[in-house]
Amino acid sequence: EPLDIATPTRTQAILTSYGLRAKKKFGQNFLTDLNIIDRIIDTADLSDDDYVIEIGPGIGGLTEQLARQAKAVLAVEIDPEMVRVLNDTLSPYDNITVIETDVLTVDLKNTIQKQWGQVPAVKIVANLPYYITTPILMQLLQAGLSWDTMVVMMQREVADRLTAPVGTKEYGVLTVMMAYYAQVQLAVKVPATAFNPAPRVDSAVVRLQPKNHPYQVQQPKELFNLVKICFAHRRKSLWNNLLQAFGKDAEVKEKLTSALAEATIEPGIRAERLDLENFYQLFLALKAQNI
Ligand code: SAM
Repeated sequence: EPLDIATPTRTQAILTSYGLRAKKKFGQNFLTDLNIIDRIIDTADLSDDDYVIEIGPGIGGLTEQLARQAKAVLAVEIDPEMVRVLNDTLSPYDNITVIETDVLTVDLKNTIQKQWGQVPAVKIVANLPYYITTPILMQLLQAGLSWDTMVVMMQREVADRLTAPVGTKEYGVLTVMMAYYAQVQLAVKVPATAFNPAPRVDSAVVRLQPKNHPYQVQQPKELFNLVKICFAHRRKSLWNNLLQAFGKDAEVKEKLTSALAEATIEPGIRAERLDLENFYQLFLALKAQNI
């Protein structure tokens, strides 16, 4: 097997030989810890019939290890200079395809179909660029993909928000949006020393699994808008946030009161006390009142 890319010396040697430095604007922090990569792969439970999508392969440190375990890897990288490196570093592997594009704008469903045709649910594995963690997650979850597991490295603070229990200060809009799509689990805590260059924040690997819950809505964005309204002022009551958004005249108040009663939610509580099911019930009740 070729030499591992994700070691401190090889990573530095590759960057030096191409005259490259990690680019901040693309959130480039390369993994140089093979133990962490092993744990990512264990968390993804990879086997040789898995089709894997990787976001941001960088110089290929994670990509090559994925390729050794999985059937095929499709990696999406925005930085042409990285793609140039990958053409060399990943040349020993015939089951990797690198596509030079922005993950936020590419049609992944279509890309997968073109690359592999009809395939079973894909796994998504990535050491994400931290400056766009949330947009990437939302993009992946809303892309209509058939996926089975996502294992993603992100800044610890975002991981804490994704996995926050109801009622805690980290619990918020992001927690509820994630809960709509996935079962979320914090898998591995990762120190900054596992990367070159070391990011200024701690990191964590999070595992997501698709969720089949009964709260399917036509336009999830509408549900999320309501959640945002409820959390607009965290310290204020749900009632005050709803009035702020929908108006304060008598007719509105009456409708809001009925909707809250219908959803069996106390108007005086704060949004952080509500779980996905509560928001869903409130959403339906407001719709029934034409709000
Ligand atoms: N996978 C490599 C590793 O673990 O060492 C690199 C991870 S680095 C944290 C993030 C990678 O995402 C970089 O290679 C960066 O160029 C790429 N990236 C940043 N923004 C992107 C975007 N919008 N679309 C695709 N890739 C992007």
